[in-house]
Amino acid sequence: MSVTKARQIVLAARPQGKPRVTDFRLEETAVPTPGPGQVLLHVQYLSLDPYMRERMDDRESYQPPIPLGDVMPGESVATVVASHRPGYSAGDIVLAHTGWRTHALSDRSDLRKLDPAVAPVTTGLGALGMPGFTAYAGLRVIGKPKRNETVVVAAASGPVGSLVGQLAKLAGARAVGIAGGPEKCAYVKDELGFDAAVDHKGADFAAKLAAACPDGIDVYFENVGGAVWQAVLPLLNQFARVPVSGLVAQYNDAGQGDRTDRLPATMRAVLFKSLTVRGFINYDFAADHYAAFLREVGAGIADGRIRYREDFVDGLEKAPEAFIGMLQGRNFGKLIVRV
Ligand code: NDP
Repeated sequence: MSVTKARQIVLAARPQGKPRVTDFRLEETAVPTPGPGQVLLHVQYLSLDPYMRERMDDRESYQPPIPLGDVMPGESVATVVASHRPGYSAGDIVLAHTGWRTHALSDRSDLRKLDPAVAPVTTGLGALGMPGFTAYAGLRVIGKPKRNETVVVAAASGPVGSLVGQLAKLAGARAVGIAGGPEKCAYVKDELGFDAAVDHKGADFAAKLAAACPDGIDVYFENVGGAVWQAVLPLLNQFARVPVSGLVAQYNDAGQGDRTDRLPATMRAVLFKSLTVRGFINYDFAADHYAAFLREVGAGIADGRIRYREDFVDGLEKAPEAFIGMLQGRNFGKLIVRV
């Protein structure tokens, strides 16, 4: 018997600070029927990413806010159930922008076929997908680490940070990871091969970070902002580069952080240390660098030089709770919902 009901999660209310599960609503709908040029997709794995929090607020950003009542956006690994689109047939596995739902139609040209023989399909949501490319492009294009330089990254056990450190090591640099808690720090150092890992939740974080970076910091890959940035700033070397990828510590605070105004100190350092601070969104670099990323990181994963970790949650209905937890560091590795 074929499935006739689909489920989806919509934005029910704009969060005030930390999102709550009541800001989301689970709805049941009919499974849609594909029209000409469309494929019907059955979502297997849904990616949960920090950027989604930014889009829940009604404020200016690099992408428009999600309208209230709309399905939460997101990328997924899905199986083609029926196809009226040339080049796709039932059974194909694709990467698609379906949002938080079990079934979706797509006529988009950005569907990407995944071959399970090349790499586990879920890597398309992490190490070999958007987060991995963010690490690759930000480090290569902006960070440009040289041999023996020190590269620091926070959220170091996650899909972006873990690859930043491993690519830095492959480039001959020293990699220092910042992560929340001893278990994540042990993973970053012992399994990912970073030179050091520092717990940002531990006592004397700033002093321990300074001790882990005796030659200062040449590249700081900014994933979090907030108090971590405050500890990093005095350690930046002359001509340091700061690719600004994300500010997850600030996403729940309408950009206010912990209300400490670090702008004067930051701008002073930008001037006196001749810093390069450049924000970027991964797709800025896709046309020039995506093919090389897939080739290089794909080869690194295949031969074991690059490692990654995934954190699975079962059931679409669990997505809101898992997403809220990720913003507080409760995920350990790339967060994926097994739909
Ligand atoms: P992760 O899976 O690493 O999850 C986010 C992590 O952030 C948490 O696990 C937690 O790790 C850490 N964190 C949360 N709050 C704080 C805090 N107050 N201080 C320090 N760390 C905190 O996420 P991703 O790897 O997917 O993303 C990392 C960053 O990259 C995010 O800022 C994201 O927005 C950004 N990004 C940017 C893109 C771009 O195109 N510019 C594209 C993709 C991602 P811990 O427990 O270790 O503290």
